[in-house]
Formats: sequence, C-alpha cells, structure tokens
Amino acid sequence: MSGYTKFECPNRAIVGATKCIFHDSNYWRQYSNAISSEFAEQLQKAVKEKQPLYAIGYNLTAINIKGEFHAPVYLTSALFHSGADLNARFLSVFDLSGAVFENGASFAGSVFQDASGFYGVTFQYAIFNWVKFYKYAGFTGTKFPGDARFNATIFLGQSSFNGARFSNVADFHRAVFAKHADFAWTRFDDVAYFAEAKFISANFFRSQIQQANFTDTTLVIPYNKEQKSDDEKDEPKGIVSFHLANFAQPSKAIFDKVNLSRTSFHRTENLDQIQFLNVDWMRAQGNQGSITGRTHIIEERALTEQIAADPVTGSNVTREDVLSVYRRLRDNYEKAARYDDAGRFFVSEMEVQRIFDKKGVKRPWIVRNILSLLALYKIFALYGESYTRPLIWSTILVTGFFFLRFLMSYCTEPTCNDADLIIDSLSAFFQLPRGDHYIDIIERILSAPILGTLFIALKRKFERKIRR
Ligand SMILES: [Zn+2]
Repeated sequence: MSGYTKFECPNRAIVGATKCIFHDSNYWRQYSNAISSEFAEQLQKAVKEKQPLYAIGYNLTAINIKGEFHAPVYLTSALFHSGADLNARFLSVFDLSGAVFENGASFAGSVFQDASGFYGVTFQYAIFNWVKFYKYAGFTGTKFPGDARFNATIFLGQSSFNGARFSNVADFHRAVFAKHADFAWTRFDDVAYFAEAKFISANFFRSQIQQANFTDTTLVIPYNKEQKSDDEKDEPKGIVSFHLANFAQPSKAIFDKVNLSRTSFHRTENLDQIQFLNVDWMRAQGNQGSITGRTHIIEERALTEQIAADPVTGSNVTREDVLSVYRRLRDNYEKAARYDDAGRFFVSEMEVQRIFDKKGVKRPWIVRNILSLLALYKIFALYGESYTRPLIWSTILVTGFFFLRFLMSYCTEPTCNDADLIIDSLSAFFQLPRGDHYIDIIERILSAPILGTLFIALKRKFERKIRR
C-alpha cells in the first residue's frame, strides 16, 4: 500500500543470524527471560523519554506493561507467546492490530486516551474490565476463542466489533457505550451478556447470537436536554437495531426489565420466540388509539417520520415490514399466554392497516376514520378486542330507538306504554322484531354489526380464558 513506509527494525541482529532477538522466529523459545527483560527496557525508555514504541511483529514472552505512554505504541502483528498483563495509560495512539495471543491478555484498568486498534487480533482470552476508551475502539474482526470480559468497560468514543467473533462468553456486564456501538456481523457463539449495560445507539445488523442476556440494560440513554444545542436539534435519537440479527436459541435470548421503545426488531429472526419478560414498549401518543394505549414500535414511526429503522443502510421500512414486526410480536405474546399484551400488538397491526395504504401512504382522513370497514370495526369494537364498545353501542341503539318509537308514536301494541316501546326496541335489536315497520328494519340492520362484533369480542375473551 502506498503511504506506508516499511518498518525498519532498529535492533541489532543476533550474532550469526539475520534478525534481532524479537524478530527471530525461534529465539524466544530458548531465551524467554532475555526477551522479557530486553522488552521491559524498551518499555521503560518509551515511558521515560516519551518516545513512540515500535514493537511491530515482535515475538514476545511474558510481558507486564505499566506506566504512562505519551507517544504512540505500536504492537502491530506482535506474537505474544506467554501471558500479557497491561495496566497502563496510553495518551496517544495504541495499535495492536493483527497481534496473536497464545495465552490470555489482561488490559484491566487501562486507559486509552486516543484511538486504539485491535483489528483482527486473536486473544485466547481477554480481560478489558474497567478499561476506559476515550476515543474510537476498533475490534473489527477480532477473535475471542476464550472468554472476553468487558465488565464495566467504558467506551466514550465509537466502538466497533464489526465481524468480531466471540467463541465463548462475551461479557459486557455494566459496559457503557456513550457513542455508537457497531456489532454488525458479530458472532456470539455462546452468550452475549449485556446485563446492566448502557447504549446510546447500537447496531446488531446480521449478527449471529446464540444466547443473549439484556437484563436491566439501558437500550438508548435519553439525550440530556442541557447537552442539546440548537444545531443538534434535528439529530435523531439513537436506535438499537437488531435488523436481520439471528437469535439462534431464542428461548435463551432474554430481554428483562428493559425499555424497548427505541429498539428495532425489523426482520429479526425468531422474534416470535425471544423471551420478553418485564419490558416496556412505546405507547402510542395522541388520539390515535390513545384509548387503548396500544403498543407503538419504532418501525411504525419510521414509516411517517423519516427516521431510519436501520442505522447501517438507513433503509426505509415498508408497511409490510411494520405489520410483520407487529404480527411476530403478537405471536410471541400469544405463545406466552399474555393475551392482553398480544391484543395491544393486534390493535396496532389493525391500526397500521387502517391508517396506511399498501404503499405506506396515509389514507385520507375520511377513509381512515369513517368510510372504511376497518374504521367501523374500530369504532364498534376496537377490532374485536373490546366487548365494552359493542355493549355501549347496544345501549345507545336500544335507547335511541326507544325514543324514536316514542316520538313517532309507533307501537306494536294497541295500547302502548313505555315498557312496550322498550320491548319493541329490544326485540328488533335482537333480530326478533314484533313488527315490520321501517323503524324495525333499520334497527335490525344497525344491530347486526354490533351483535356480530360483540360476539367476536366475547368469544375471543372466553377462548383466551380457557386456553390460559
Ligand atoms: Zn528486529
């Protein structure tokens, strides 16, 4: 690649050989102590003289790195044949890309004040507990064959685990991601443990997740109002997207005590089987469905508000996408016998169909609210979810027609009192009219859909009770 100069090793070659003790591929096998002590000297020099450390492609034995490095540290493609213990402060760039650890590595408590690169590193096991990354932390393509511990690690800059592979537990317990975290194409072969972690924006696009634990996780820290300057006003709030992510063992993918109002499950695999325990979904605002407080998902907002449900591709969602998320969430809750919550997703599913046409465009007001079957179905029975609505409509109809009969002095009995008028109205309502006046006919026509929806709502209610 142009722009790069070849790294010239400044160390003396071993007598009778072409390379220095660090670059010779066998020297470390016999003289591990010599390597450790020589490297310790180079480290000390870098710390003391605030000079960059070039240890590119070194063969290293047991190392222990401490101190404050003011200049860049390059451990690029180094081979760590023994354990590595780093507890240091890196004030400048830190590059470990391409390094291979044949043993464990601990960075516990280290501080990276500038960008750090761990691209394509292979760690046998890695400990990054309590590490603070002030700038970009790059773990793209990093391999973790053993445990990876990021307990209470703080990522103040962006972080990328794009294409990384965690063959064992990936422990991000109490980690804080203060900027966007990229977990696209990441593979979690064991559990992805994010309990009590905090995100401001994250992307799990196409990541392969065997098991997951999001307990007490903050999926999107709300923006602080004071922090928000005028030019930041248009900036969308973060989203945690699981677009096309695959939860391979959904019964072991747990979301508990989490607010999911800014989480997208657009085309997430096995969404119908993920474990949603004590989760909060976004509730619809305004008069559209405020009666029910129906559930509202970020994808539906993406339909109208031009916010991208998927931060990677910025792709727009279609009405079908939104409906699919609602349907699979309803399935999920029905399987868990949580019918009230399932009902809320069902109402949302119907609402989307009522409000938007197939192209995702809002239908005209009159169609949305009155002149469509769905609009009427909502008015009469909240899509069969409410039995109180048809009961209220029944009362209105029967009393309305009682007054109409009274005003028009229409009675099926020769001598008529109020009780007869009520019985007339009720009989017509229940399709057993005592006359064939047009009042009877109109009342029967109007009562049919009300009785029908009442039947549907009650049937649904009882069936759920029995199944429970
Ligand atoms: Zn050398």
